[in-house]
Amino acid sequence: MFIPSSPPVLPDEVFNEPPSSPPLPPAAFPSRKRHAAWEDREDSSMSSDPIFSEDASEESEVTGIKRKRFVRGPWYQHAQSPAVSRVRGETRKPDSGVWLGSDSSTDSIGSSNRRMQSLTFNEYMHKGAPLTQRQTPTKHQTPTKPKDSIQEHAATIVFNSVDACRDSIDLSDMHLGRIDNETLKPLHQLIRLPVPINDTQKITVDHFAPLTPSIKLFLSKNDLQQLPSELWNLGNLAVLSLRSNSLTEISPSIGRLRNLHELNVAGNQLPFLPFELLALVENKLVQLSLSPNPFVQPLPLPTSTMLRNVPSRRDDCLRELQRLRARCPEIDKTQPSHEALLHRLYASRLHAASQELKSTSTYVASSSTSFFEIDGSVVRPRFRAYTAHARPDHSASFNPPSPPSSVRSAAPSLFELSARACARSQYVGQLSTLLPEDASPPVNTAISKVMESKEIGMQHCSVCNKQFLVPRAQWVDYYYVGPGSEMCSPSELFRPFVRRACSWICVGRLNEQREKHWEDCEKHILELARFM
Ligand SMILES: [Zn+2]
Repeated sequence: MFIPSSPPVLPDEVFNEPPSSPPLPPAAFPSRKRHAAWEDREDSSMSSDPIFSEDASEESEVTGIKRKRFVRGPWYQHAQSPAVSRVRGETRKPDSGVWLGSDSSTDSIGSSNRRMQSLTFNEYMHKGAPLTQRQTPTKHQTPTKPKDSIQEHAATIVFNSVDACRDSIDLSDMHLGRIDNETLKPLHQLIRLPVPINDTQKITVDHFAPLTPSIKLFLSKNDLQQLPSELWNLGNLAVLSLRSNSLTEISPSIGRLRNLHELNVAGNQLPFLPFELLALVENKLVQLSLSPNPFVQPLPLPTSTMLRNVPSRRDDCLRELQRLRARCPEIDKTQPSHEALLHRLYASRLHAASQELKSTSTYVASSSTSFFEIDGSVVRPRFRAYTAHARPDHSASFNPPSPPSSVRSAAPSLFELSARACARSQYVGQLSTLLPEDASPPVNTAISKVMESKEIGMQHCSVCNKQFLVPRAQWVDYYYVGPGSEMCSPSELFRPFVRRACSWICVGRLNEQREKHWEDCEKHILELARFM
């Protein structure tokens, strides 16, 4: 009998798959059932002590041969085989330390790989982050189809922009009569496309920049009379164009757009601007387009259409002030006039320069103040005929505001507190249907205000910054807005900003501050005059 001195040379395949060992389990295609069970497992039960996996593995019931568990990827992306838990009588927690992957489980392989396989790296850089990271709107988040086709078209444009990671959304010239909140909601999911890394390109700071986009929203040349409340929740809005619409008011909630660089509200029907816009002007808003609009004016406009050059430097302000005084030696400080307003402008800018304050806007004058009752109705003047349709007077007044009653308190009224409680209720939408038909008008007005506040949020007092639902006073402040050294027509010189206060006391406090400010300005001018 021939006995070979050496074992026969076997083909390579035999070495790769020794016949004595069982075939490896399928690596990349784990059981769907097991995965579903793992993914559905809640992470609420986290254990404190790590559990290390053992090298001992269970014998196969069929072959009786121990098998090494086959795992890929980090330990925390692999589920423990339910079989092991069953044998050991304990449950492995998702944060249970190092997972060595030496058990006999044939499941849990590539639970993370499946996710990664959905997009390769190149696809990631080309198309953007995978869906799990991009948070692209899911089926539940897609805008519900608006009734008319224009709305539907607008919603599609927004949705496609979000899907393509485009930060510029153009909804201009679409004859939009309104925009639904649902149309703008997907913009919260928008992220900036990451800068792709090439082999030949150096890695720059841009590659590490956050994926927060600077949204540019163009709504110009439409028929918008109102804006959706969702617009004021877009904190990343950098450019907003509302040019050539039919807007009659801009919500005070615009103050929430802290990253706004550019705003265009020209070509609307705005009588005044929200006071909250001034804070944006002092913050990041560098380009503000306002004209034309039917803004209220502090005084009737002069017949001449000459342009004015507002000085920006201290010496120029002083020279202009001297020229003004030489031309009008007796400027009446109690009666508003064009000279008096310019005098205030130059004096205030001089005072700001002496304090080294760098503010873009300069306060000049206020209109007379409208005071409101607890329920928000206008307090009737005692000695003046009042009609319901009387238009409030927005012309500048140098007289201090005088509340109609000496009974003043900064505490919110019971009416105000009740309205706030209604606003917090989830049944606020049904309140009006529960009221009797002959319910008093203030209650109906209050409920409509509650509904409005639910939509746009509480307003803030422009004096003390407290929140309120029903304003107690309202007036217009005239500011010069601009860096100076700019030519502007008399109608563009002073811009009206509407202000609202939570209590009559706030009006009085502001007036005291204002009077002190003008006293300081006058003192400063007198000091300068000594050296003239
Ligand atoms: Zn207040």
